[in-house]
Amino acid sequence: MQKNKSNIVVVIGAQWGDEGKGKVTDYFAARANYIVRFQGGNNAGHTIILDDKTVKLHLIPSGVLHKECKLIIGNGVVIDPRVLIKELNMLKKEGLSTNLLVSDRAHLIMPYHVDIDYHLTNYQNELAAGSTRSGIAPVYADKLYRHGLRVADLLNKDLFETRLKKSFDFNKALVEKVFNEKFNHNYEEILKEFLGYASVIKQYIANITEVLSSAVEKNEQIMFEGAQGACLDVDHGLYPYTTSSNTIAGQIEAGGGVGLNTSKKIVGIAKAYLTYVGRGPFPTEIKGELEDKIRDVGQEYGTTTGRARRVGWIDLVQLKFANQLNDFSEIILTKVDVLSGLKNIKLCVGYKVGGKDFAGIPSDIHNFKNIEPVYETLPGWGSLPNHIKSLNQCPDELKNFVAKVEEVAGVKVSLISYGPDRNQTFKI
Ligand code: GDP
Repeated sequence: MQKNKSNIVVVIGAQWGDEGKGKVTDYFAARANYIVRFQGGNNAGHTIILDDKTVKLHLIPSGVLHKECKLIIGNGVVIDPRVLIKELNMLKKEGLSTNLLVSDRAHLIMPYHVDIDYHLTNYQNELAAGSTRSGIAPVYADKLYRHGLRVADLLNKDLFETRLKKSFDFNKALVEKVFNEKFNHNYEEILKEFLGYASVIKQYIANITEVLSSAVEKNEQIMFEGAQGACLDVDHGLYPYTTSSNTIAGQIEAGGGVGLNTSKKIVGIAKAYLTYVGRGPFPTEIKGELEDKIRDVGQEYGTTTGRARRVGWIDLVQLKFANQLNDFSEIILTKVDVLSGLKNIKLCVGYKVGGKDFAGIPSDIHNFKNIEPVYETLPGWGSLPNHIKSLNQCPDELKNFVAKVEEVAGVKVSLISYGPDRNQTFKI
């Protein structure tokens, strides 16, 4: 059979998350027939501003403003049904789209997973990645143990009962015997609660492989929306300071449920500087007055927690690594306005360990902790014009910054975002 050249766009955070993906996903969402989340859970988030209202979503994909677009939660996502139902209710209340399909194969976050996330963070102590305590790591662990509960199980009461018993007993023992904590859950109550969710969620459950295969055949536009960032990938990030899923573009097929031997545009989003919410080493971290200034101008505080993000210079070794992992077609550089007015701007162009050049990103925490960043310092740019249509209208210092990013990361910058407003972007 002739394979179509479906138009597939994959949007991936190219750093440690919080790159300003919202604006970009919104741009592609307006052109998509399907928007698919393929990893992570309600540890992600985007904000939709509607006239005087703000709607925050953590699980449902972008695109709720576009009623004709199908929103898909793929099998690679882990679903807390309580969060899903809350978001659906909020969207209905605001008159936004609930044109949603949920993979029958996605795993369910159970109430005890959330508690275990909390115990786990205490147990792992400084080796913990800094979890949002939403139950994500424990549910992925149960998935791999193969006693996880899936969305499809909700449709079969007897099967759900049996599977819940296995999962419940295992996790009870884990809490009581490993963490020596009280297990505050009741099997019967959870069973009743979840069978209740089944009646609400039922109408959204689908075999996503069928849906997306047919979309590819019909040459429809599909956007895959990454959560977190490439450098938090559980395999390729700085383990254990990673998220619990694969965040790179390669995950779209495993977590979306469809083979895609077709043309794809893989878009990496990178901020002009770097932020990090984890506890792991951060080679280009800035401390002191400048740190506070960048954080305040860039509003670098956690969307849900309000926690101050750590701030640093852009790390082009990291960006090059993200490009090697994702094979970006292009990158979009965001928040260049936040650096306006700085006398000098540093870019990390290499790593040294023990005074010797170090190629690539170290896999081990020991070497990563001892990284000495090699910087190139460029003169900064002043304030930017209010309306920019092309790079030609930008100060030479910004042009040089962009050229350096492209040279070291090995990928072209296609678009620059220079303010929170939807119009504050220009193509290169
Ligand atoms: P995500 O976590 O990567 O999805 O990041 P968000 O999309 O939530 O963006 C975080 C914040 O950055 C939002 O408040 C955006 O309005 C803001 N933002 C996005 N792009 C820019 C930009 O180019 N400049 C400035 N100053 N803010 C931006």
